[in-house]
Amino acid sequence: MSDQLTGLDSYEEFVPKLKQAVSDMPEEAVIAIVYSDIKHFKYFNDTYGYRRGNRLLARMSEMFSSGGVGFLCGARVVSDNIVCARICSDGNTAEFLGKIKESIANIEHVLRKEFLCERIRMTAGVFFIDAQVKGINVETAISNANLARKQSKIDGNDSVTLFLPVMASRIDSELEIISTIEEAINNHELEAYYQPKIDSLTGKIVGAEALVRWVKPNGTMVYPDEFIPILEKSRQIINVDYFIYNEVFAFIKSRLDRGESVVPVSMNVSRQHLKELEIIDYVKDLCAKYKVPTKYIEFELTETMCIERTERVMEFINAFHDMGISVSMDDFGSGYSSLKLLSQIPIDVIKLDRCFLRSRELGDREKIIITSIVNMTKELKMSSLCEGVETSDQSSFLAGIGCDAQQGYFYSKPVKLDEFRELLAVGCTR
Ligand code: C2E
Ligand code: CA
Repeated sequence: MSDQLTGLDSYEEFVPKLKQAVSDMPEEAVIAIVYSDIKHFKYFNDTYGYRRGNRLLARMSEMFSSGGVGFLCGARVVSDNIVCARICSDGNTAEFLGKIKESIANIEHVLRKEFLCERIRMTAGVFFIDAQVKGINVETAISNANLARKQSKIDGNDSVTLFLPVMASRIDSELEIISTIEEAINNHELEAYYQPKIDSLTGKIVGAEALVRWVKPNGTMVYPDEFIPILEKSRQIINVDYFIYNEVFAFIKSRLDRGESVVPVSMNVSRQHLKELEIIDYVKDLCAKYKVPTKYIEFELTETMCIERTERVMEFINAFHDMGISVSMDDFGSGYSSLKLLSQIPIDVIKLDRCFLRSRELGDREKIIITSIVNMTKELKMSSLCEGVETSDQSSFLAGIGCDAQQGYFYSKPVKLDEFRELLAVGCTR
């Protein structure tokens, strides 16, 4: 049955039609599979209502099938995902791609005008079936176009992206990470590393941040940047975070039990946690289970999370504060920092992003900006920590302007637990 809303085929009808079109395709022709969606469609629905959202989809589909070049068939796959096939009889793919881009730009333009919404943007991925790949499974071809669409979203710089084989391998490695992480947790392949935080004035270790590492059975280390962003797309990241939280609580408890010195340890909170309040009960349970005083526990929420989900973040902070846990704003200055936000959110620590120290020698402008932020945190009764300190000059400058604490390779890279224990025994890193 065809899709009632858009009048296009269903996916089940589309696949055999496409197969037929490919087998009937003349030698010199090329078929383009164009897989598209509307950026921020959820925003549109939430703001203008589903009825208007539906009309937008119907209108977009209508233009897909009537306008543009060489339309063969089209379907709505799910939600706002629309796929269509177009034929170019002379096989000039460069020109054809140009026409597809033009046609999509035109659809966007019309939709923006008709629906009085400047935010309407489309994303599309394109896969070409020519004589050389005529034998391809059409569903693979559709999924390649979809991969290109996803890449288009990641890159964010071009609304229409042509499929490249590297995209498939990238997605393969993503899938491998997604399918092996649970096993990795169960096999104890994940490990918490600790990066000391240093008091600017005394040079003593006053805390640490726990950072996850994945050490594969063959000894290769996978850094969080390679797997966290992938796992963050689903709830899988929550298992990773909880694993690290357990490690940290167990570590602090072991030191307390042995009568050893303890410093507060901060843990990262992934944006997935914002969907529910579950983490709060989880942390309460951890405190009860390990009997760790909450003054040793700190959570880091990124600046972007604070901006995008201010209300939810406030709920978290209030709940953490009620438990006696402090909260820091991570990566401050890396996004669109909103100074107003700082006056609204009762954060305890501002962690200045390491982008401020990108150049090893600080320029005058950078110095002014860092100094102003540090002064502002003081006035707001928050404490300040600068990340990514790599040189002695940077460290002295930060101490000079009264930045409370520092974290960075100048003092120590994130280290394994045993090494961190050794550092704690000495009390400082240099
Ligand atoms: P982040 O929270 O901003 O963590 C700081 C990152 O900066 C760490 O990278 C750390 O190794 C690196 N770093 C520290 N000092 C320096 C320096 O002086 N120079 C340079 N160039 N880099 C420095 P890492 O460990 O690779 O972690 C990357 C990101 O992955 C973290 O950024 C955090 O967002 C995320 N992450 C790490 N562990 C976890 C976790 O357990 N859960 C969640 N949700 N995210 C995590
Ligand atoms: Ca962090």
